[in-house]
Amino acid sequence: MVSKLRQDIAAKGESGGGALGGLRMTKQRKLVYDVLLDERDHPTATEVYMRSKQRMSSISLATVYNCLETLSAAGLVKQVNVGRDASRYCPNLAQHAHFICVKCEQVLDIDLKNDKEVESVWELPEGARIDQLEVAMKGVCPDCNAAEKEVGGNG
Ligand SMILES: [Zn+2]
Ligand SMILES: [Zn+2]
Repeated sequence: MVSKLRQDIAAKGESGGGALGGLRMTKQRKLVYDVLLDERDHPTATEVYMRSKQRMSSISLATVYNCLETLSAAGLVKQVNVGRDASRYCPNLAQHAHFICVKCEQVLDIDLKNDKEVESVWELPEGARIDQLEVAMKGVCPDCNAAEKEVGGNG
């Protein structure tokens, strides 16, 4: 799965080739990255575009897509795929899983318990090492769960 992702990135990547390592932070890339860092609610590319436009009215959707792709390829941003919906973007580089609420569709970052090593959480084959974690859980978030109980409560 990881190698497939790399292939996709390579296939769609810029002609420049080895740009992955020393990423040049252009004004636009910095802006898109700042937008992601400022509000960590896992926005879609369109949402990132709308937020970016408020700060740089000349920026285009294509540029935002481009920046997101470059930042993802450089490993600064994670792409989160929620079913068939548009990809969301996450600047949290710590190993974490994503919890997707099926009711309000918010995406929560889920950290490992007590700084556990990610290798210790799964029954990995002997000698395997995890470089990248892409775990998505679906369920009902605390807010929606509480709201549900209120509605369905005795009354
Ligand atoms: Zn929810
Ligand atoms: Zn995240």
